[in-house]
Amino acid sequence: MSELRKDPITGRWVIVSTERRKRPNDFRLESVEITPDPSCPFCDGHESMTPPEILAIRRHGGPPNSPGWDLRVVPNQFPVLRVEGTLDRQAEGLFDKMNGIGAHEVIIETPRHDESLATMSDGAVEQVLWACRERVQDLKQDRRFRYIIIFKNHGDAAGSSVRHSHSQIIALPIVPREVRDEVDGARAHYEVKERCVFCDVIRQDMADGRRLIAETADMVAMAPYAPRFPFETWILPRRHQSHFEDAPRQEIASLARLLGELLRRMTRVLRNPPYNLLIHSAPLAEPAGDYYHWHVEVIPKLTKVAGFEWATGFYVNPTSPEEASQVLRDARG
Ligand SMILES: [Zn+2]
Ligand SMILES: [Zn+2]
Ligand SMILES: [Zn+2]
Repeated sequence: MSELRKDPITGRWVIVSTERRKRPNDFRLESVEITPDPSCPFCDGHESMTPPEILAIRRHGGPPNSPGWDLRVVPNQFPVLRVEGTLDRQAEGLFDKMNGIGAHEVIIETPRHDESLATMSDGAVEQVLWACRERVQDLKQDRRFRYIIIFKNHGDAAGSSVRHSHSQIIALPIVPREVRDEVDGARAHYEVKERCVFCDVIRQDMADGRRLIAETADMVAMAPYAPRFPFETWILPRRHQSHFEDAPRQEIASLARLLGELLRRMTRVLRNPPYNLLIHSAPLAEPAGDYYHWHVEVIPKLTKVAGFEWATGFYVNPTSPEEASQVLRDARG
């Protein structure tokens, strides 16, 4: 029997299909291969191929936009939204529009072309996450922005156009729909129970254990109860906090360790799959609050979204989260 499951945060239903039950080897796995690229704009020594850097880490010093860096943040060469201009919102009858104000930045995570978050040291991953935090702190000073999304596409199938390991940051003049759904759901839960729904999920799942994958003193990695996709994994801070950019150093370090570990396990059992990674945090305008809880979502790209999903918003997931977390738990070491 298949099972319909409801996500306790958004109220979204998914179908966990036991009829089409899939173990890691049943997926047509597409491994991400990093092939050399002499014209890669993100490689050390190719600084002139990107717009001038916004932020860089150079342990050994050196001028901006010169080789010898550990990490660089640069504006996206082909931004989906632009920083320049004033925000102008207009309505044409029913239709609402605004000009494309925003910011679109790229975090080049390593100077080395052949590395990935799964192969980098914990310290290097921590540096990436800390740079993300710093960029959000800076961008949120701009009052035109309502939301800042941090995400990563790993591999062609996950939408990446450059192989060299990087993440992206987009500042938006609106709060996106997916986030709004989570925020609204979390607020509704809080109004009834006076507790954060994410904290409740963590408490229940830590006690239950079936969907836990790994944990540190500060963070926990688990499969959500109603995942849209096979092997969808969330990493949450165990201590309640609404905004990612307020996370203390120790939690960022802990997240780096757990994320590296999770990606290595996924690499092992799912053969270096393409994946998307994103950070969900409370909207910028919301004060630090009790009901929303920032988290990371990692979604390996193992299945394709098809007509039924488009038509209904119902996702059919062929791997139960209990099974996926067990596979990832056992993949340790
Ligand atoms: Zn490169
Ligand atoms: Zn919480
Ligand atoms: Zn989320």
